[in-house]
Amino acid sequence: MKSLNHDQVFYAFAPNLKPRLTVDQHEEFVLNTCDCFANQLGSDEDTLDNLDWDRINPATGPVAIEGVKPGDVVRIDIKKLELTGKSVMTTIPGAGMISGITEASTRVMGNDNGVLSVATEKGDLLLPLKPMIGVIGLAPAEGSIPTGTPGKHGGNMDCNLIGEGASLYLQAAVDGGLFGCGDAHALMGDGEVLVCGAETPARVTLAASVVDVPQLPTPFVETEELYAAIATAKTSDEALKQAVDNMFDFLTGIAGLSQGDAGRLMSLVGNLKFCQVVDPEITVRFEFPKDVLSQLGFAGIGA
Ligand code: CA
Ligand code: ZN
Repeated sequence: MKSLNHDQVFYAFAPNLKPRLTVDQHEEFVLNTCDCFANQLGSDEDTLDNLDWDRINPATGPVAIEGVKPGDVVRIDIKKLELTGKSVMTTIPGAGMISGITEASTRVMGNDNGVLSVATEKGDLLLPLKPMIGVIGLAPAEGSIPTGTPGKHGGNMDCNLIGEGASLYLQAAVDGGLFGCGDAHALMGDGEVLVCGAETPARVTLAASVVDVPQLPTPFVETEELYAAIATAKTSDEALKQAVDNMFDFLTGIAGLSQGDAGRLMSLVGNLKFCQVVDPEITVRFEFPKDVLSQLGFAGIGA
C-alpha cells in the first residue's frame, strides 16, 4: 500500500504544494502522522521551553487524488486509525479557554489496551480511548492556511467524530485536492478547552473519491450513526448559525424534506455541539441521526 512517513509533512494548506504521493480514487493509502508537537515531547520533563514552535501541527502529505477537479466534493474515508506512540498533554498559561491555568506542565500518558492512563494527584484513571483526527483538509484555491487553523477547507477542526469508520466530505479547490492530515488525539472532549487533547502519533489508513453531490454543504461528516454539518467562524454565534443553516440545507436540498419537517426534526432530534473553541477560529457542528432519515426513505449521500 502507498504510504508517507511521519516526517513527510507540511505546515500550511496551499495550492502550490507539490504532492508527495498520488493515489487513485478508492485506493487505500497510509499516512503516518506526528502528534501536534511533531513528537518533540517524550517525557514529563520535556518542557515547552525546549519546543521548536515552528514545528506545531504538522500534517502528513500532501496527497493528490487522481481525477479530482476544483469544485468536486471529495469523500475521505477513515478506514483505520491506529495510535503509534504514547499520548501527551500540556498546560500552557494563557493558552486555551481556562483562565485559572498558571502552571506549565507536560504529561505523557500510556494508551495501551484501549484505555488512556491518566495519573492524577488523587489517583490513576483509565479512560476509554476515542481516537480522532484533529487536522484534516484539502488545499484552498489561493493563499496559504496554516495547519493550525480550521476553515471551509477543513484543517484544524478538532472534531471528535472524525475517527475510524467516519467519512469527511470536503470541497476540492485545486486539481488533485492536495490532501493532508495529522494531529491525532487518543481522546478529546467537545471544545478542547485546554487547547490540546491526548496528542498522539498515528497511522491512518484512508481512501478518497469524488461524490456527485455538488450542493453538499462542506465540511460534512458521516459516521455509522449520524450526519454532521461542520462550520468554522470567527465567533461562536456565527459558527453556530452557519452549522444550523448548513444542516437545514442538507435536509431540504439533498434529503428532500420540506422546510417544516426539516425544522421540526432538527429541533426534536438534532444536536448542536462545539468541536473546538481554542484554535484561531471557533468550530461547531450540527448532528442529525441517520436512522431518522432512513425511516423517511433517504438512501444516503450520493446513493
Ligand atoms: Ca488540533
Ligand atoms: Zn491536537
